[in-house]
Amino acid sequence: NARLKEADKEVFSIIENELERQTNHLEMIASENFTSPAVMEAMGSVFTNKYAEGYPNKRYYGGCEFADQVEQLAIDRACKIFNCKYANVQPHSGSQANGAVYAALLKAGDKILGMDLSHGGHLTHGSKPSFSGKNYSAFYYGVELDGRINYDKVLEIAKIVQPKIIVCGASAYAREIDFKRFREIADEVGAYLFADIAHIAGLVAAGEHQSPFPHAHIVTTTTHKTLRGPRGGMIMTNDEELAKKINSAIFPGLQGGPLVHVIAAKAVAFGEILKPEWIDYAKQVKANAKILGEVLVKRGYDIVSGGTDNHLVLVSFLNKDFSGKDADAALGNAGITVNKNTVPGETRSPFVTSGIRIGSPALTARGMKENEFEFIANKICDILDDIENSELQANVNKELEALASNFVIYSQSTY
Ligand code: PLP
Repeated sequence: NARLKEADKEVFSIIENELERQTNHLEMIASENFTSPAVMEAMGSVFTNKYAEGYPNKRYYGGCEFADQVEQLAIDRACKIFNCKYANVQPHSGSQANGAVYAALLKAGDKILGMDLSHGGHLTHGSKPSFSGKNYSAFYYGVELDGRINYDKVLEIAKIVQPKIIVCGASAYAREIDFKRFREIADEVGAYLFADIAHIAGLVAAGEHQSPFPHAHIVTTTTHKTLRGPRGGMIMTNDEELAKKINSAIFPGLQGGPLVHVIAAKAVAFGEILKPEWIDYAKQVKANAKILGEVLVKRGYDIVSGGTDNHLVLVSFLNKDFSGKDADAALGNAGITVNKNTVPGETRSPFVTSGIRIGSPALTARGMKENEFEFIANKICDILDDIENSELQANVNKELEALASNFVIYSQSTY
């Protein structure tokens, strides 16, 4: 019964280093967050030992009475949060969830219409290297040069393509997504509307972003981004027939035994989201992203779409002589973790890019507010203004470590 510290010093020490990295650096990757110790405790629980193929009360293994309870609790909480009738909480990831939606509704070669990866869509929305672009005939819509979706243009493309599914939702889109308008487009061409709200789910849960229900036929999300839960996915719908197809597509279609320990952790995270404090968190996530964008604009940086309605800003360096890759590296040296990202009108390769994506969910979870975000945004601009100055990067790193130390995330004994 030795604890990890004694049982495996090598792994323990790597995890300690990761804790130190997460603690001392400023995590501004828009898709990352910090779960609570309670979520991690459930994830590290004895449910990791349990096989539970099937669904609550319809299992292929014995001894599932408590797995049933915890999965049903996660389902009920998910339906309450998103105001829908059916939820499948078994997908191991967001990509698995999306794969199950296609498997439930399409045959190989059927047409889908999603947002172009280089315009902010996700790999699983029809991108060529992903199963979604390999198994299905994928077509794309994008954003205009102003960084926004032009819904009339989406309709035009949909009329030409006649897809079976229209996918909406994005990985790098800073503006509100109009699900109602997307449904009107889907109805005009007789397509299913599939909303992937992985990035904005935490805001939707708080009423801080338009809900995809009742507009979308099917909704997927990851549970680890703005939802602040364990790594994983989820699929929701209001339609009983679709729910049945989705359940079969996940198990036995794509997955075997569900990760019951992760499902338990999803239940804990959903319980946190149902508390009134969640609304304060979501509002703060948006307020922090907004001030970040405002400072960048004030300091002369070009923000795609001119600002943000959600948890992220996309900064464009199309008019600069450095790339997203350069900016990512310079900010990394200064203790700020972001990611390079393509921008509308991109001229560089996807490995270099002309932009960075910066998000507020993780630092907001640490308790940072507008004052800290204004301070950090100015530091980001200082670094970008003088991108080759490694001495400045080292100094800012020290300053930001001092700031981070005032916002403790996990005590040493958390894991
Ligand atoms: N959908 C969107 C919009 C995403 O941004 C992501 C992840 O970045 C996913 C799906 C995939 O999630 P996962 O990494 O869990 O497979």
